[in-house]
Amino acid sequence: MSGSRQRTALRAHQVALRYPGASHLVVANFNLDLASGEIVSILGPSGIGKSSLLRVLAGLHRPVAGFVEVDGAPLEDVHPRLAIAFQNPGLLPWLDLERNVAFGLDFRRQPRLSVNERQARINAAIREVALDHARGLRPSALSGGMAQRAALARCLAREPQVLLLDEPFGALDEVTRAGMQQLLVQVVTDRGSAAVLVTHDIDEALIVSDRILLLGGAPANKIGEWRIDLPRPREDYVAELGHIRIEIVSTLRKAIHHQ
Ligand code: ADP
Ligand code: MG
Repeated sequence: MSGSRQRTALRAHQVALRYPGASHLVVANFNLDLASGEIVSILGPSGIGKSSLLRVLAGLHRPVAGFVEVDGAPLEDVHPRLAIAFQNPGLLPWLDLERNVAFGLDFRRQPRLSVNERQARINAAIREVALDHARGLRPSALSGGMAQRAALARCLAREPQVLLLDEPFGALDEVTRAGMQQLLVQVVTDRGSAAVLVTHDIDEALIVSDRILLLGGAPANKIGEWRIDLPRPREDYVAELGHIRIEIVSTLRKAIHHQ
């Protein structure tokens, strides 16, 4: 992240969530100030509530207490400047790649765009993920990495101010995953947007994040937070990252032990 005065892109204040009919809260008193340009990763044991929390940040679930704000306004529904992506790219098999990317602009509450503006956004997004050569292909003809890039392009066409990503690279091989991590950092930096990345991969969090949050407890909340001020690419800072990694692993072990 560069610059000292960053706008808050997304804010969660004392957020609590509970599923209908459940007696217990999944997450309670969760706070987050996400600055524009910032990438925050959320780590935590499986089943702790990471995906549930991300859906609240995306406006897909209403919190039972607290609130989420986008640009200082309360988030009450899905939002045109928020885009969410999952491990499953979720491409529609009967549409080619370009139409799948265009589909990102047809979601609920998207602004009406002129034909030219719409096409310009689609072209820019496809170019950004380097899939120009594949725009006419159906999803069945795409590799796992290409499909995930197409899913990212579908998000980017919305010109999001915040990307919300739920283990998006979890199903990819190691080399493809490394390429996707670089791409994520590049698009967030180039566009001056921001991202919240849920991952179970500590190394992924160390490589892409400005900040790492660790969720633990019941109801879940932040049990650890690390700011990573090292320049990118992070591969050159193995010793410093190793130190943070050890702290994260030990905090995570304690959290799992107490679960
Ligand atoms: P994580 O992403 O950290 O693995 P989740 O957010 O998927 O965790 O789940 C957190 C908790 O919420 C779990 O106990 C899970 O069973 C519960 N949960 C998740 N989705 C639902 C749902 N749609 N309805 C009821 N409970 C749910
Ligand atoms: Mg999950």
